Amino acid sequence: MNLSRAEIIDLLQDETHQEQLFAKADAVRKEYVGDEVHLRGLMEFSNICRNNCMYCGIRRDNKLLGRYRMSAEEMVTTAHKAADMGFKTIVMQSGEDMHFTADVMCAIIEQIKKFDVAITLSIGERSYADYKAFYDAGADRYLMRIETTDKDLYHRLDPGMSWQHRYECLLMIKEIGYELGSGIMVGLPEQSIESIADDLLFLRDLGIDMAGIGPFIPHAQTPLKDATGGSLELALRTMAAMRLLMPDINIPATTAMESLHPQGRIKALRAGANVVMPNITEGEYRKLYELYPGKICVDDTPLHCRTCIGAKIMSIGRTIGQGYGGHNGKLPHQ
Ligand code: SAH
Repeated sequence: MNLSRAEIIDLLQDETHQEQLFAKADAVRKEYVGDEVHLRGLMEFSNICRNNCMYCGIRRDNKLLGRYRMSAEEMVTTAHKAADMGFKTIVMQSGEDMHFTADVMCAIIEQIKKFDVAITLSIGERSYADYKAFYDAGADRYLMRIETTDKDLYHRLDPGMSWQHRYECLLMIKEIGYELGSGIMVGLPEQSIESIADDLLFLRDLGIDMAGIGPFIPHAQTPLKDATGGSLELALRTMAAMRLLMPDINIPATTAMESLHPQGRIKALRAGANVVMPNITEGEYRKLYELYPGKICVDDTPLHCRTCIGAKIMSIGRTIGQGYGGHNGKLPHQ
């Protein structure tokens, strides 16, 4: 749907008519991508990070956090169990942990590909050669949020990083042939509604296949500990507007939404979302992958999460996708 910047700003601001926006986004979702909800098993395989993002609990300078890195064997076993549970996509996410060189990562990707799953990587900024190597090893999708398109805000929040470089990474990922996921946080300190509208137009122009939108939640062990944080409502309005703007892409009901409200993901699934990313990380690692406080399900097992979210999805009359659930049908490697 063609929406002007001014129209998007209206949608984002209008609290009184948000139920109409959610209903519209829900109808567009149903028309373009149907009732299937695609599940992606999220493996958080390392919380070691070279970056120091002001909002993020696993930032380099958070010395209070116990750090971990899963072994290649643990990663393959975790993915295998998830595939046996029926997951058709495994998302591998971590901090920017340079232990995982292209060679190390490719060997893991090749083994996990044997389980007949799509692989999404979410490991941040790398070189073109690395992105190409991961892709050739079998990675299908890449997820990296631009976080905000307000460049000044980005540079204040992500010290030592370059917005332009992150953007160029997204272009490389797309050019190589991955399905590209990106997205933003809403409710960042000093982020304006106008800039969120610009974010949505940026994502549309980039031609993303998936948009992850979540509220910023302040973490006590970061410089932004006293910030206000984003509201679930604004995050939902942003997500719903994204659905109107890009009717057929994949849009997850994000974990951060559920962390703000026990029904956050269900609300999102009824306001334009068609994907959920249940956690398949095991044991203590879940707690330690603390991007923000109040993260849900930290004491649960992968099977529990799979069963719980499956029941919730069915309770609202939706079905679980049985395929890989890519944007536009086929996977890049099929
Ligand atoms: N290193 C990878 C993964 C980053 S963590 C990368 O650079 O892409 C995944 C996402 O969590 C981030 O992109 C950010 O949007 C989100 N996130 C980080 N800290 C957060 C916070 N305090 N509140 C909400 N979301 C947060």
